[in-house]
Amino acid sequence: MKHYCPYCNSEQEYSIVKRIFKEYKGVKVNVEENVPICKKCKNELIINSIEDENLKRIYNKYMEIKNIITPSEIKNLRNRYGISQRELTAILDFGKMTINRYENGSLPSKSHSDYLKLIAKDEYVFFDKVTEAYDTNRISQKTFSKVKNVVNKQSIHDNNYELKLYIENDLKTSPNIYNGFQVLDLEKLQNLISYIASKTKLYLTSLNKYLWFIDMISYNKRTISVTGLTYIHEQYGPVIINRKYEEISKLDDKYKREDKEKNDGSIQSIITSNGNYDLSTFSDKEIKIIDYVIHLLSNKSVKEISNLSHKELGWRNTERFEKISFQYADNLKIIE
Ligand SMILES: [Zn+2]
Repeated sequence: MKHYCPYCNSEQEYSIVKRIFKEYKGVKVNVEENVPICKKCKNELIINSIEDENLKRIYNKYMEIKNIITPSEIKNLRNRYGISQRELTAILDFGKMTINRYENGSLPSKSHSDYLKLIAKDEYVFFDKVTEAYDTNRISQKTFSKVKNVVNKQSIHDNNYELKLYIENDLKTSPNIYNGFQVLDLEKLQNLISYIASKTKLYLTSLNKYLWFIDMISYNKRTISVTGLTYIHEQYGPVIINRKYEEISKLDDKYKREDKEKNDGSIQSIITSNGNYDLSTFSDKEIKIIDYVIHLLSNKSVKEISNLSHKELGWRNTERFEKISFQYADNLKIIE
């Protein structure tokens, strides 16, 4: 391998040295970068193609950590509805060429990224935006129809459509300290529940704690939760706010809920997996945390799991019906 060396002022052989690139825009990325060194004078060379590769890896890691949408995710979104970069830009009312720039690798702002992620996950939110764009003449009838056809086709097959809208309407809040700075992704949550239920006998009351521990540990490790749910303090431990575990457990495309009457007349709800969970939207780190919590709780009774949650500061330092802040994730007994 040869390249021009400005120090030797001639073509020289160079070798590649590995170096750790620690921080990018204040985020600890710790990405290995390739550094070309002139074999003769030992000076560091600047070679564009290598530099580009390094930068790409740093970008990707940064985007992964900051949870920023990637160019291919944006392309997938457009392809799903068969719309062009210009059409998507108009729908979202972004500045001219914005989508084009993002797809070519410029880093989206956090707010643009969060919004793009939301509409990529949630066709109903997207369709709302498309309707608004059509009503205000930002897009043509043709563009509107293209998207509408795709949305219709998908929602016809979804029996849970109304229930999902209802749950999302209530639980989807912008990132804050009570949802672990994550926006709820209902489909991801359903996949998670289906996965947990496939690994253990899952009672509805314990489901709340499984999710809470997963989110708290995730927040402790990554300062972002997995599900985006908000939890409140209840007598037997943290539960999803507004008792929404009731509705969530009734969605039946990924799991089934069965209510059994016990001898004392009380009802016990058990969730069984349909086995069709999809973990592809979970990162390796998230899966590691999820498996850890399953490993920890799966051989424990409902009562024991409840007791474990009672040891946590998030439960001890809050009152009944109070929202539990993710600040309490800093000190978790369960991972001590
Ligand atoms: Zn040299």
